[in-house]
Amino acid sequence: MTNYLIDGLLPASRDRLCTCMMLENGRKFSFGEIVAASGRYAAALSSLGVGAGDRVAVQVEKSPEALLLYLATVRAGAVFLPLNTAYTSAEVSYFLGDAQPTVLVADPSKAEALKAVCASTGILHLETLDASGNGSLTRLAADAGDDWIDLARDPEDLAAILYTSGTTGRSKGAMLTHANLLSNARTLVKAWGFSEGDVLIHALPMFHTHGLFVATNVAMLCGARMLFHSKFDARRIIAAMGEATVLMGVPTFYTRMLAEPLLTVEAAAKMRLFISGSAPLLADTHAEFRRRTGHAILERYGMTETSMNTSNPLHGDRVPGSVGLPLADVEVRITNPENGKPLGGDEIGMIEVRGPNVFAGYWNMPDKTRREFRSDGFFITGDLGKIDPNGYVWILGREKDLIISGGFNVYPKEIELVLDALPGVFESAVIGVPHPDFGEAVVAAVVPDKGTKIDQAVIMAALRDQLASYKLPKRIVFVEELPRNAMAKVQKNALRQSNKNLFD
Ligand code: AMP
Repeated sequence: MTNYLIDGLLPASRDRLCTCMMLENGRKFSFGEIVAASGRYAAALSSLGVGAGDRVAVQVEKSPEALLLYLATVRAGAVFLPLNTAYTSAEVSYFLGDAQPTVLVADPSKAEALKAVCASTGILHLETLDASGNGSLTRLAADAGDDWIDLARDPEDLAAILYTSGTTGRSKGAMLTHANLLSNARTLVKAWGFSEGDVLIHALPMFHTHGLFVATNVAMLCGARMLFHSKFDARRIIAAMGEATVLMGVPTFYTRMLAEPLLTVEAAAKMRLFISGSAPLLADTHAEFRRRTGHAILERYGMTETSMNTSNPLHGDRVPGSVGLPLADVEVRITNPENGKPLGGDEIGMIEVRGPNVFAGYWNMPDKTRREFRSDGFFITGDLGKIDPNGYVWILGREKDLIISGGFNVYPKEIELVLDALPGVFESAVIGVPHPDFGEAVVAAVVPDKGTKIDQAVIMAALRDQLASYKLPKRIVFVEELPRNAMAKVQKNALRQSNKNLFD
């Protein structure tokens, strides 16, 4: 009997030294302990009636036990369904109603409020797990024996459902199979040269694909160690670099570290790789980080539905602003968003991907799933971009962020790149807002460098030299910072909302 993902991730010789260590309170799990303890959690889930194909919803703080729970769920033949810790009970209610899990595991502080939600959505079991690994589920696991046998699962069986952040419309549950997760982890281990000797600084949340699958699957697969930080703290991360080799982060990790004088060539001397993804990394950040540490950040591109698709190379040019080359087993093409016809050369269009990493569809949404796949199996990512003559992929924004002003397509990224390169501009976000004449008007939200004042006229004069007139912002609004979610993504919806009446 084989459990495809578990047998691949945690191979039979279980004496390999993968350690997962929570730095805040020094809790440490060796690979053998990870296997034994996740078996006990699997037995605990099974005692609650969790079986093949059942969903286990989890809204818990980051801890090694959260990782054990992911493994335990898969070992019990079930489907792991992590939820953002920021979701309110009302939001959790939607996910429970949609996914109908057998169990919800929650932080004890939320249990009272979630009891009613479970009752109203028909969820029979509510268990608890806190950031120190204690709770009713751990007590159940402690009573379980050490003789757990994994349920057999095939490559095509579901291992997880991850709900997308859903900034427009209903959040969608992306169904990920055993084969999706294992193939991507294997590809990334090779692409990024991971080995047993690596020590990964893990400061990402564990409810999102980046911290959950990219980081932990890669580390477990090759027996690398993980240093868990409950949250990102620039100084603590810089201090941890003395004992680590790799950091996986979102762009804000890098901008925040750059604000610390502690970030030096010496501080980063033991590190071999800095990886960034989940949101665009500014070319300036890339350059500044290189200047300060001697390391070129490796930027990659992925999404909940597909795990990782492209990456800048480990050996070779890491091109600032580009998300790199398609991964070994992933095909990437650019198509005309209107009719799906492949585009060539440097043309901008829809990014589509195909490969063993691409998900099995959206939970309970067969129509939506059909609409987002081409008949030849390519998934329509919703990201607009291009592939340059060297094969590097460039993302120019989400399709829903495309601005159509006076009938012309305006790609926000093109304007953001010009703005970001201007002196005194720290970063920017370009959006479309309703306009009586143009349908939509281009508006730029600009964050000036700290302590700098720039005026609209100076920026406009600089933009006029570089951009066609229909792309020029009709208005520039200066802001102290851009609204971002937990994965550092700029929330353009929030910006559109707060500026929607600019041209009334
Ligand atoms: P999520 O499903 O939350 O991981 O979001 C996926 C989306 O994040 C992608 O479709 C892209 O729009 C964006 N994204 C991920 N990585 C990058 C990157 N390196 N540069 C720009 N956008 C990115």
